[in-house]
Amino acid sequence: MSVTTTRLPEVKNYIGGKFTGAPKKSMDVLSPIDGTVISTVPLSATEELDEAVKSAKAAFESWSNTPIKERVQIFYRYKSLMEKNLHELASLVQEENGKTIDEAIAEVEKSIELTEFACSMPQLVPGKILEVSRGVECRIDHKPLGVVASIAPFNFPHMVPHWTIPNAIVLGNCMILKPSEQVPLSSNKIAMMLKEAGLPDGVFNIVNGDREIVEAICDHPGIQAVSFVGSTKVAKIVYKRSTSNLKRCLALGGAKNHLIVLPDAHPEMTATNVTASMSGCAGQRCMAASAMVGVGNIDPIISKIVDEAKKIIPGKNLGAVISKEARERINRYITEAEKAGAKVLVDGRNWKVEGKENGFYVGPTVIDFVTPDMAIAREEVFGPVIAIIRAKDINEALKIENGSDYGNAASVFTQSGGMARLVMEKASAGMIGVNIGVPVPREPFSFGGWNDSKFGVGDITGESSIEFWTQLKKTSIKWNPESKTNWMS
Ligand code: NAD
Repeated sequence: MSVTTTRLPEVKNYIGGKFTGAPKKSMDVLSPIDGTVISTVPLSATEELDEAVKSAKAAFESWSNTPIKERVQIFYRYKSLMEKNLHELASLVQEENGKTIDEAIAEVEKSIELTEFACSMPQLVPGKILEVSRGVECRIDHKPLGVVASIAPFNFPHMVPHWTIPNAIVLGNCMILKPSEQVPLSSNKIAMMLKEAGLPDGVFNIVNGDREIVEAICDHPGIQAVSFVGSTKVAKIVYKRSTSNLKRCLALGGAKNHLIVLPDAHPEMTATNVTASMSGCAGQRCMAASAMVGVGNIDPIISKIVDEAKKIIPGKNLGAVISKEARERINRYITEAEKAGAKVLVDGRNWKVEGKENGFYVGPTVIDFVTPDMAIAREEVFGPVIAIIRAKDINEALKIENGSDYGNAASVFTQSGGMARLVMEKASAGMIGVNIGVPVPREPFSFGGWNDSKFGVGDITGESSIEFWTQLKKTSIKWNPESKTNWMS
């Protein structure tokens, strides 16, 4: 993985179709790859949010009255622009987030897929009409909400904003995006390309910032709905604060995904899947394998996992983690588990990448004999670490999985259909994998977890998002004066 970080342009807010002047406060954006300052991001205050809401409100009347067939034409053009600029967009993701270029390309390709789905909305949202009595009909239409907000995390600077932007906007809403202050650069590029595709000014806006601006979004009376993706701690705050202000909210939180491995699992396939799942994007995926529950004697599979993990080299086929603090947190989890009696089979602490000594790297880490009470078994580590917990049978394995506060994903590795079926039924998670380490549903299937991994009704992508971004208008129509009047008339 050779990447040279450079000083990139300053990040700006994007309001009413223009990149706007600097708010009073700002902070440096650091490259995870070498620790250098690559840009500066504004930390906006309520005034900047007010301006963005005003501009979005002004655009709403005309945008919501634009037929959906016309709205999607802009997103067809936008999708082509993403395809044309794929490598440039992926390089930007790599520079600000630290993942490998292949991972960054896959991320932008997923944004393209999400946009394709939004382009199919005209086929998915036609209303219904029925003659309910002679000469009287009822119709039902999906109507946009107005100004909506989307708050994003650091781990997918390009893809997570595309979970919300295309669907919400195609459905007629005007949006304010609050990117993660750690990776704000891709969003500026998204704004430029939406404008180039023909999106009218004010329909899409960006307000950068941190906690202060998130709280202001939750409180702002001009915003109808808030979607959030990030840690569970903040998801709870955002969900409670937005809904107490009578807004619609869908808040996706953190994860602790369990992979249950049975002794009959295909050894090579299991080892490569487990390793890729725990180390892809440096373990900073809400779908990453974090705990592996080994049922019975799975020593031969563990030794293959160790071999696979040793092939993963930071700075080569493993990216950096987001910050110095993240690296320290991950190392702390490993050290505490070791002190509590777990056995570190592959140790990712203290990695230095030649020429990138100031980068934030953690090597792949495999820890065996973790017990369910250890912090590394219960909490989200968010690094390239797999904690192996031993279980005597499938029931004990399921009890461990079910005991997690989270519920984003769970997978089972086995060649037995019956065992796979049991885990599919009993695992307490929204997304299940059978012999798949990262069971992300592809479009048109929707994305969303259970338990402390999601607060609110429905999922963030796919058809489920239609309910979140729209409200139903029910109209009863009579053109026939002879029609009988009943108690409802
Ligand atoms: P985070 O919760 O720290 O930040 C997310 C957003 O909230 C950012 O825009 C940030 O500016 C803002 N924020 C941070 N602290 C805040 C506070 N105290 N009050 C109000 N706003 C605040 O998350 P992160 O570190 O950027 O992202 C990693 C987390 O996101 C992990 O927990 C990961 O599992 C989760 N995640 C979940 C999903 C999912 O689909 N469930 C997807 C991606 C990431």
